[in-house]
Amino acid sequence: MKLADRMARLGTETAFEVLAKAKKLEAEGKNIIHLEIGEPDFGTPSNINKAAIEAINNGYSHYSPSPGIPELRTSIANYMSKTRGLNYTADEVVVTPGGKPVMFFVILALVNEGDEVIYPNPGFPIYESMINFVGGKPVPIQLREDKNFAFDTEELRKLITDKTKLLIMNSPQNPTGGILTKEDIIKIADIIKDKDITILSDEIYSRLIFEGEHFSIAQIDGFKDRTIILDGYSKYYAMTGWRAGFGVMNKDLAPQIAKLVTNSVSCTNTFVQMACIEALEGPQDSVDMMREEFRARREIIVDGLNSIQGFSCVMPHGAFYAFPNITKTGYNSKDLADHLLYKGGVAVLTGTSFGAFGEGYIRFSYANSRENIKEAIKRIKSVL
Ligand code: PLP
Repeated sequence: MKLADRMARLGTETAFEVLAKAKKLEAEGKNIIHLEIGEPDFGTPSNINKAAIEAINNGYSHYSPSPGIPELRTSIANYMSKTRGLNYTADEVVVTPGGKPVMFFVILALVNEGDEVIYPNPGFPIYESMINFVGGKPVPIQLREDKNFAFDTEELRKLITDKTKLLIMNSPQNPTGGILTKEDIIKIADIIKDKDITILSDEIYSRLIFEGEHFSIAQIDGFKDRTIILDGYSKYYAMTGWRAGFGVMNKDLAPQIAKLVTNSVSCTNTFVQMACIEALEGPQDSVDMMREEFRARREIIVDGLNSIQGFSCVMPHGAFYAFPNITKTGYNSKDLADHLLYKGGVAVLTGTSFGAFGEGYIRFSYANSRENIKEAIKRIKSVL
C-alpha cells in the first residue's frame, strides 16, 4: 500500500518507543527504573475518580457537543480567568482528548504551506512533526543552558520574517524543566507586538512550578486574542490516560477548532468531561501534594546527577524533568541513553528526541519514587 506523501513528514514521540524497549527488557526478567516517560507516578485523586464513576452511572455515556459540555467549558473559562487574571467566557474554550490535539488542530487550522513557525528546540517533538506534516517551515529557536533553558530574545528577533505565522512557546518546559520568566515574556511580546504573529502557548505544566508564579503571554495587553493557551488535566491532576485537555482562544477561532474535533473524534469522552468539572472545582490539595513531592525529588535528582562524573545539571524550575549536559562523559546522547538502559537498567530519553539542539543532553523524568531515583543514580555511576 502506498502511503500519502505527507506521512513521510510526520514525526513521532520516542518516549513511547523507549517505554516499549524497557518493557521488553522487563519481560526478559531485567529490572528497569523508568525515568523516561512524562507522566506522574501518582494515582488520579479519588474525588475525580468518583465523579467519573458517578457520571457513568448517571448516563453520561453519549456524545457531547464537539467543543465540550457547556458546564465544563464554563468551569474552564472561570479557572482560566482566575489563574491568568483575564476574563474568559465559555465560547473561548474547546475541550479536547488531552492537550496534544490542541497543537495538532491549531497548527492544522492556521499554518499554510510555506508559512514559518518558530518553536522551542529542544522541545516537545510533536510541534516540529505537525509543522512539517502540514507543509509549514519549522524554524527552531535554541533553548540555551546558560540561560537556564530560556531562549535568547535577540535570536527570536532575527528569526522572524514576513512569513512567520505562529510562535510556539512552552513554559514550564519539556524536556528541560526551564521556565520563561515574566521579564522574558514581556521582551518577547515587545518584539512581536506589531507583527501579525499568533502565539500557541503550551502551559500544560502551569501548576508544576517551583519558583515564582506562572505567567502567560496572554496576560500582556493586546495579546489575549492572539494567543491560544493549551492546558489540561494530564500532568497536574495525574490524568494522562484519561485524555482530557483544552484550548482557550478567541471566539472566532474556537468554532473552527471545534469543527476539527467534529471531523476527527466527534467529542471528548463525556463522563471524563464530567470528572474534569470535579477536578477544577473540587479540593486542590492533591495538586499541592504532588508539586511538593516533585520539589523534593528535584533536589535529589539534581544533586545526584551533579555528583556523576561528566554530568552537569542546571536546576529546573518547573515540570518534572531534569536535563543534564553529558558532553563530558565522552558519549553522545543516543549511545549514553542506550548504555544506561541496556547496562544499567535505567530508562531515559535522548536529548535529540526533542530536536537537534538536544544533542549533548539526556532527559530524566523524575516522576518516580525517591528510592528509585537514588538507585538510578547509583546504577549510572556503576556503569560509567
Ligand atoms: N505539551 C507538552 C509540553 C507535553 O510535555 C505534553 C505531554 O507530554 C503535552 C503537551 C501533551 O499532553 P496530553 O497528554 O494532555 O496530551
